[in-house]
Amino acid sequence: MLERGEVANSWRTERWDSLRLLTPNWQSRLPGLAYDGADPDGYMSSADVVELVGRFAERTPVRTQTNVASVRRVDGGYRLTTEHGELEARTVVIASGACNRPSVPTFAEALPAGIDQLTPFDYRNPESLADGGVLVVGASATGVQLAAEIRQSGRPVTLSVGEHVRLPRVYRGRDVLWWMDASGVWDERYDELEDLVRARSLPSPQLVGTPERTTLDLNALTAAGVDLVGRWAAVRDGRALFSGGLRNVFALADLKLERLLDLFDEWAGTDGGERLAPTEVPKSPRLALDLGRGEVRTIVWATGYRPDYGWLEVPVLDAKGQLRHDGGAVDSPGLYALGLPVLRRRKSTFIHGIEDDAREVVELLAGDVQERGST
Ligand SMILES: Cc1cc2nc3c(=O)[nH]c(=O)nc-3n(C[C@H](O)[C@H](O)[C@H](O)COP(=O)(O)OP(=O)(O)OC[C@H]3O[C@@H](n4cnc5c(N)ncnc54)[C@H](O)[C@@H]3O)c2cc1C
Repeated sequence: MLERGEVANSWRTERWDSLRLLTPNWQSRLPGLAYDGADPDGYMSSADVVELVGRFAERTPVRTQTNVASVRRVDGGYRLTTEHGELEARTVVIASGACNRPSVPTFAEALPAGIDQLTPFDYRNPESLADGGVLVVGASATGVQLAAEIRQSGRPVTLSVGEHVRLPRVYRGRDVLWWMDASGVWDERYDELEDLVRARSLPSPQLVGTPERTTLDLNALTAAGVDLVGRWAAVRDGRALFSGGLRNVFALADLKLERLLDLFDEWAGTDGGERLAPTEVPKSPRLALDLGRGEVRTIVWATGYRPDYGWLEVPVLDAKGQLRHDGGAVDSPGLYALGLPVLRRRKSTFIHGIEDDAREVVELLAGDVQERGST
């Protein structure tokens, strides 16, 4: 196992200070390592995750500080180049993560120089931002969490909202992720989904892990004084242009939430539980914002993450830079992947999702090795 940094590198170096997992402690388990602390319903900090992954890694030989600079196909397998020399392997499992780089729209390059631009990898806390207004772009887990925290620091915050997944933190007395688990939604398999491409590109849910188990949806942000605008569509003459149609975007997220809660009720065999109020549409959301006027001092791009395969010299990427694979069997003999969105189940990119996926991918790999060994 080769790791360019230290064990749990992403949790050591790529997270903001206040981040807590959105999955509850009891759920954040690794194979053979269930949560045994005093707060099963709480949410881990990044340091807690480092500790968890570190404990797991004690059983596993990991070569840290070993960046894989290239992987090439050679006769009978693959050749890997690292700064400590070359390695050959008949099979390779790519577990380099789904979130190596922030995704930022190209028009970010055309913005006025006086505006600070940060990604979630650069952002640490509100205190390190310049005084003045902040435009947070993206309203999934990262965007809503950062918008709330920055607003709480007293700064004016505008949040640009595109397609999003709305969830209550607690439903009928249980963490909503308990319902995802218990009802089987999270176990839905990749080869049984109607629209796998869509499932793999769904944004993360609007959730935050706090001791109060608060719901952090757009209504909560509006109540906190965050100004909502539509999806940032373009930049023209130094102005940010936002899509109209917030009403439709909100209605869609509300409808999907309703359907999910109906599904939970159906699974539980009970009548409908409590429902959230519909997402409030601002009276006249702004369609443009003049970036030269000084109203916005900082932009935080919470527009998602993507993997980085700059080191992979095997032609297995699609036009969007994603690995071509079937349930973790990559489109090249002996090459496998883990930890990608809906790799084999809806829960594939979550910490607790790795156990089932890893078992099955290792079974595929072992079968492959056996077959090749006997020919
Ligand atoms: C902001 C954020 C919040 C999240 N919150 C949650 C949550 O609440 N609950 C949850 O279950 N999941 C959460 N996740 C998903 C989380 O990232 C995964 O659950 C878990 O960290 C994935 O582990 P991984 O090992 O697949 O990927 P990563 O944690 O990304 O690890 C990949 C490793 O590969 C190394 N690497 C990459 N390229 C190379 C190379 N060329 N050579 C050598 N090493 C390399 C990296 O240094 C890194 O250590 C969150 C993700 C993000 C980005």
